[in-house]
Amino acid sequence: MARYIFVTGGVVSSLGKGLSSASLAYLLKSQGYKVRLRKMDPYLNVDPGTMSPFQHGEVFVTDDGAETDLDLGHYERFTNISSKQSDNITTGRIYSDVIKRERKGGYLGKTVQVIPHITNRIKEFIKKDITNEDFVICEIGGTVGDIESLPFVEAIRQFSNEHGKSKTLFIHLTFVPFLKSSDEIKTKPTQHSVKELRSIGIQPDIIICRSQQSIPLDQRKKISLFCNVPIENVIETVDVRTIYEAPISFYNQKLDKQVLKYFKLKSKKRANLNPWKKITKIVLNTKKSVNIAIIGKYVNLKDAYKSLDEALVHGGIANKVKVNLIRIESDYLKNSEIKKKLKNASGLLIPGGFGKRGTEGKISAIKYARENKIPFLGICFGMQMAIIEFARNKLNIKKAGSSELDKKCYPVIGLINEWDKNGKIIKGTDQNLGGTMRLGLYEAKLRNNSAINKVYKSRSIKERHRHRYEVNNSLKDQFENKGLIFSGMSPDNKLPEIIELKNHPWFIGVQFHPEFKSRPLAPHPLFSSFIKASKNHK
Ligand code: GLN
Repeated sequence: MARYIFVTGGVVSSLGKGLSSASLAYLLKSQGYKVRLRKMDPYLNVDPGTMSPFQHGEVFVTDDGAETDLDLGHYERFTNISSKQSDNITTGRIYSDVIKRERKGGYLGKTVQVIPHITNRIKEFIKKDITNEDFVICEIGGTVGDIESLPFVEAIRQFSNEHGKSKTLFIHLTFVPFLKSSDEIKTKPTQHSVKELRSIGIQPDIIICRSQQSIPLDQRKKISLFCNVPIENVIETVDVRTIYEAPISFYNQKLDKQVLKYFKLKSKKRANLNPWKKITKIVLNTKKSVNIAIIGKYVNLKDAYKSLDEALVHGGIANKVKVNLIRIESDYLKNSEIKKKLKNASGLLIPGGFGKRGTEGKISAIKYARENKIPFLGICFGMQMAIIEFARNKLNIKKAGSSELDKKCYPVIGLINEWDKNGKIIKGTDQNLGGTMRLGLYEAKLRNNSAINKVYKSRSIKERHRHRYEVNNSLKDQFENKGLIFSGMSPDNKLPEIIELKNHPWFIGVQFHPEFKSRPLAPHPLFSSFIKASKNHK
């Protein structure tokens, strides 16, 4: 049986539970163990797919098409282990499963209750789809003491009771503040948080203390004494200079060593920290920079484009440049301002998006980048906007649009099967918003000698999708005659997946989201190439 490591958080949220879990996973993996990471989210949405980025940041998409919490992105980026549908569960999903079963009479007349029915379902999830993993790291969202997370905490308590301490380990991440006024590090919040955890039956085995500065031995001893944890299992994590330093920092603090010791295991090989050391050095020492303009609805919101921000940094690492983002809110972008706003940009990126707000500004900015030969990368919605721009201004289809945004437009972008050969709408658009998207990994065939073929150095790729609308393929010849080619197509040749401009230094739009597959230790070729082109611009 796999060993289960449960990670809870206390005192405040956003302490970096995801990053700690991901770093630990990397360290265990690099010492020869097979690891899996899971996230339990205590909200009532069945998945985060329908949540606004204002609520929960980016929706991360897995290979198998699950719309998941953005922490799974951290997990993948740090471990390069692809997450699956079964790696993210929410209270909403658990309850909906249990209620569905109750309606079918699946509980044989019993009263259905949080304990044992909800907790049993959570325990099933914890073990589901695990084969020969050595470690399963399960992170519990939220903060201990929240009403919402109680069933999850109760479920892991039962799980540990049933499978024994030799198979389960509890890590609790807390905050150890430094009070400037008294020039002191305070351990009381940690003591209270652990007390809260113990009151619901869990004694942590390891405490990770997040702190702005190193915690003196005396204070660590205090935490050890009051929280009933051996001193070597009180691990500090001081703010790192870049997140890529986190695995190195946890290694230096011996987190992995204490975990292995707890399970009476030895490392199978030495942890390899060289790649992290290398990129930390690049990130901290790179002087040269490149300005990339990004136009979107949520550009000023931290985490709304988490994977994208990361992928751009990775592209910078590959080219040894720092990527400065010029964040432009599409809602307030006036046509007259575009030239001024893009003046210092060496590249333009239009990311994924939904809905009409702010689209005209994006379309005008794409026109500017096309005409002024500024490197352009359009992702999903960004590619769709590039198609609309080209149709309006080069094919002279003035009413060209997307049926997502305007039911009366000429749909150069529409739902699959929505257009006929003449571009007329033949199918209504009043579909359900849940379960109607193209999600997850799809193959695309790339045209020989195209720009995209050179970027990927391959004729066949697989990338992750998350969209409802598609490029209307019936206008392909018209587009190509004017110089915009459909250089990547679905294997049946029906769905345009990649577009590019012929007479432009770098102008590529992709229907998928390459950012989900970029890794700091393996930057995505599209981002490396885009940043390279932007670096060479001007
Ligand atoms: N709104 C567009 C669609 O559904 C694009 C989605 C996206 O950018 N992820 O097709």
